[in-house]
Amino acid sequence: MLSNKTALVTGASRGIGKAIAIELAKNGVNVIVNYNRDEKSAIKVVEQIKSLGRKCIAIKADVSDFDDVANMFSIVNERFGKLDILVNNAGITMDRTLRKMSQEEWGRVIEVNLNSIYNVTKNALPLLEKNSRVINISSIVGLYGNFGQTNYAASKAGIIGFTKSLAKELGRQGITVNAIAPGFIESEMTNRIPFIRKKIVEWLIPLKRTGLPEEVAYAAAFLASDSASYITGQVLSVNGGLTI
Ligand code: NAP
Repeated sequence: MLSNKTALVTGASRGIGKAIAIELAKNGVNVIVNYNRDEKSAIKVVEQIKSLGRKCIAIKADVSDFDDVANMFSIVNERFGKLDILVNNAGITMDRTLRKMSQEEWGRVIEVNLNSIYNVTKNALPLLEKNSRVINISSIVGLYGNFGQTNYAASKAGIIGFTKSLAKELGRQGITVNAIAPGFIESEMTNRIPFIRKKIVEWLIPLKRTGLPEEVAYAAAFLASDSASYITGQVLSVNGGLTI
């Protein structure tokens, strides 16, 4: 159990972020649910977590906007005074081959997926206690690349470099910094992928199925736990064995 710990999960209104927020709450953690647009869903997550007996609030902030994120952390400081677990999960896709990709599509994905990691982690640092945990959600695409996702792959590979470097900077304080690289996980993000492409990917996955958000959440809860105290600077793949 992680009783009396406080976590902030970005992009926790649905999908993988929501599953991580709930799994941490089941493990005794009080949770701050960050979202950008979907207030209704964020409030439902808050209610679900409160029903587990944990403290929980939702805070609206666009993680790509440094000032918005700074405001979010002043609320966190006021309400909780510290942070033990930070999960950088918020992310988007804007898929297109490089030949057709606009500067805006390149820039927005980098802003939301990668600049956000600077914005959020930088503002979180003063609140992170000794032995706290930073968990960054990368992707299988950051490791192997993917057709039509140069922007997304660059952002997710960038997260891995950030993770390995920050692990070296924060080790002295006993703070661990790790990344999770999910494979193909059922969510709104992957719902947009055409049926036939999904079937092909499923066939390529050794476990012959796509993953569930909860299966990523179990990995996050492990990395947040005392059992992971000697693991830092690592990338944990949760992908059913998929390697291309
Ligand atoms: P999702 O269902 O689309 O959820 C994305 C979440 O991010 C939502 O809660 C959304 O909140 C939030 N978000 C988006 N832009 C934001 C912003 N600017 N500021 C704050 N929050 C923002 O996606 P998902 O599949 O759960 O993905 C979660 C993470 O896992 C992402 O980083 C994604 O790249 C990564 N991942 C997913 C898969 C997969 O197969 N699904 C695989 C590998 C990695 P609002 O709607 O309220 O804005």
